[in-house]
Amino acid sequence: MPCFRTRFCTLLASAFMAVAAHAQTPVPSPATLPDVGFAIIKTSQVAVPEVLLVPGGSVTRQVHSNFSAFLVKHHNDFLLFDTGMGSQIDRQYQQGMPLWWRPFFKYDKPVASARAQLDQAGMPPLKRVILSHSHWDHAGGVQDFPEASVGVAAAELVRVHAPSTGPGGTWESQIGAASIQWEPLVFQPVPFKGYPESLDVFGDGAVVLVPMPGHTPGSVGLFVTVDSGKQYFLVGDVVWTMAALQQGAPKFWVAGKLVDDDALQTQASLEKLRRLVQSEPDLVVIPAHDSAVQDPLGYFPAWVR
Ligand SMILES: [Zn+2]
Repeated sequence: MPCFRTRFCTLLASAFMAVAAHAQTPVPSPATLPDVGFAIIKTSQVAVPEVLLVPGGSVTRQVHSNFSAFLVKHHNDFLLFDTGMGSQIDRQYQQGMPLWWRPFFKYDKPVASARAQLDQAGMPPLKRVILSHSHWDHAGGVQDFPEASVGVAAAELVRVHAPSTGPGGTWESQIGAASIQWEPLVFQPVPFKGYPESLDVFGDGAVVLVPMPGHTPGSVGLFVTVDSGKQYFLVGDVVWTMAALQQGAPKFWVAGKLVDDDALQTQASLEKLRRLVQSEPDLVVIPAHDSAVQDPLGYFPAWVR
């Protein structure tokens, strides 16, 4: 996700407010947890010109782009979909982001890592992490969960085994540790919501992964049907905002060239998603970075249920 230069003071104030908000939020008790639901864990954010995220948007107006992880609860099981920025992101960034890209791809500090937020809330160590894809702003917290298996699509595992640097890279500093318990996701030829293959994570149709290749070869999306019956679709970076999806617009062209592995395949995944939303208008699509969608749903320890 691109993180472009903005006013330092605004960023600093936003970061402190975010941390203060986390510090004041109450610890969830088991009674307040949903049976099946999810919580958005905002690990950081950055202000970017609106035009980068919304086609036809303002060049001067700043909007927030989130770096979020998603904690999914299914009965007694938890899984983390993406990790956002982790506790080691500053060191990883020094190693993985070339100097010339740093003015454009950045994140607010201090980071509130998913692990730190979960620990603060008294949550037990997670056993399972799944990545929408392995880019730096999604895999940054993998090393914070040594107790967990880390699921990625087989096509994404190829990137993991051949890491690279830069804004569209899979960083050695994040995924290179030999101790990481990689788990290749095995999709079945079982259609789900128009996707020809799927992986029903818990076997009851409530939490289902589908391949959404293009942004990276192994990008995946996750459907979650929560207690209320409402359905949500976590789509990673197939599209950065709902506003862009509604227009069927590709990413801002410079950014798209940098971060989309295969532009045509990304556009095909976007069009497929767009058709799904048109046929199922009650489905709530949540792009990984879209603060306009995530803000109204609330942030951990609040749950979507
Ligand atoms: Zn991203």
